[in-house]
Amino acid sequence: MMYMHYCPHCKRMFMLNGHHLTCPKCTKSISELKISYIDYVKLDIDERAAFKIKCESETHLSDLSITYRMHKYSKWYRELQCTIAGQADEVNVVLK
Ligand SMILES: [Zn+2]
Repeated sequence: MMYMHYCPHCKRMFMLNGHHLTCPKCTKSISELKISYIDYVKLDIDERAAFKIKCESETHLSDLSITYRMHKYSKWYRELQCTIAGQADEVNVVLK
């Protein structure tokens, strides 16, 4: 399944296979958009340009992106993973 994502760092849209949390280009965090791949493909050039401008505004981006995140993908969890990288087994034990 293809999903629409937006990278605020590269200021561009990405159609990615599956749910991604990091930009394939700059590797910083990206937002998955609520708009489906099918709906995006249906937009004409002007509508796509308007949509991209909306994404560039952070307020709109939070409206347009998916707010639901699986618990283990939340920001604190990723930070925790970074902090104690290499000790993944201990993290799993703590979270159980
Ligand atoms: Zn990027």
